[in-house]
Amino acid sequence: MKIRSTEIKMSATKRHQYPAEGLPEIALVGRSNVGKSSCVNALLNRRNFARTSQTPGKTRTINFYLINNEFYFVDLPGYGYAKVAKSEKDKWGNIMETYLGDREELCAIFLLVDIRHEPTNDDVMMYEWIKHFGYECVVIATKADKISRGQYQKHMSIIRKKLQLEKDEKIIPISSSKKTGVEDVWNEIVSQYNK
Ligand code: GDP
Repeated sequence: MKIRSTEIKMSATKRHQYPAEGLPEIALVGRSNVGKSSCVNALLNRRNFARTSQTPGKTRTINFYLINNEFYFVDLPGYGYAKVAKSEKDKWGNIMETYLGDREELCAIFLLVDIRHEPTNDDVMMYEWIKHFGYECVVIATKADKISRGQYQKHMSIIRKKLQLEKDEKIIPISSSKKTGVEDVWNEIVSQYNK
């Protein structure tokens, strides 16, 4: 995928703040610290486009990044930080439900999990939510440089089993620091929004 332009369009919490042009959207979601910002930066080949390692639990907005004037990356707020107060978790839930509940433009959701670990219960809940709302789900297994290639299959089957993925649902390993798997993720993004 050739990136000709990237533009941070808006941070939204409410429906009327979402883009209104009707362009296709691909959303990324995962627990805080899973490597979502690094993944966006690797995909866009930028160093500091999405801010990495923000104070966990502080990003309670949906960020829309316009790519090539063609589609939006939708950076959904991270979840699963134990120290976050209940009121903050409720806020997160409301923001997510408002967006996921009714978003025709949304083609697919890419769920990020750490390749090294069995998905958390929050990850499972997120996956079930994606399915409940009826969206396509693609799993990105982050930080793949932390294990050897020979271990990929074993870790991916642990992820597949815990999330109870359907047979045709993909897991794509990526390392944002080593820039491996980036092209595979791009191919999947393009195929999802051309469906
Ligand atoms: P976010 O909270 O999901 O946006 O996560 P970040 O992108 O801020 O990454 C969280 C931490 O994981 C940071 O310290 C990153 O440097 C590290 N990290 C992210 N991606 C990778 C990766 O592919 N490989 C390795 N080794 N570390 C990564």
